[in-house]
Amino acid sequence: MKVPVVRNILSANDRLAGENRQKLLGRRVCSVNIMASPGAGKTSLILRTAEELKGKLRLGVIEGDIASRVDADKVAAAGMPVVQINTGGTCHLDAPMVGAALEQLPLEEIDLLFIENVGNLICPVDFDLGTKASIVVSSIPEGDDKPYKYPGIFAAVDAVVLNKLDLAPYVPFDRAAFRGLVAGLNAKAPIFELSCSTGEGLAAWAEWLVALVARSREDA
Ligand code: MG
Ligand code: ZN
Repeated sequence: MKVPVVRNILSANDRLAGENRQKLLGRRVCSVNIMASPGAGKTSLILRTAEELKGKLRLGVIEGDIASRVDADKVAAAGMPVVQINTGGTCHLDAPMVGAALEQLPLEEIDLLFIENVGNLICPVDFDLGTKASIVVSSIPEGDDKPYKYPGIFAAVDAVVLNKLDLAPYVPFDRAAFRGLVAGLNAKAPIFELSCSTGEGLAAWAEWLVALVARSREDA
């Protein structure tokens, strides 16, 4: 008897994700769900990408965390409109939470909305938020076996970012093995190897985002 209950919760989420999607398309906002384990560099990626896209796209951010507003404060200090969602213990964002956050954002002033999910490689992928795309951020210190251990998330995303490339000389990480694992799970997702510390690789990632925003406007 438990399975139908789970299905009802998920379909309610999907319905609200559809509403978020329509709202975002209607306001010509392209949105990206950013998933990763804690400490992979989601917030750093947002801040570094904002520098890279300055003058090209107007960014906005929804920050999801179990508690605190430290990440939102960093984003706000960088001059971006931001809303913090505190999930109060829940280990993922869902469509109703994002729908409520959208009410608080100046959507007319945003071209690209980053939604930083709760740090967790397991369940966030099961909850459609209504975004145009979803990505996973992995990082060199986490090891090259993450796609092997968490195949669901790597199979579902539209792109993979491999962050902290500057640490590659100091940490054992087989980049070819990582790329092979990702390709085996997800043949379409591009992999962007980059470093938010040095800026290496950021340009190609920013270019992908600019193209994504252009595609999103064709959908609107
Ligand atoms: Mg963060
Ligand atoms: Zn969860």
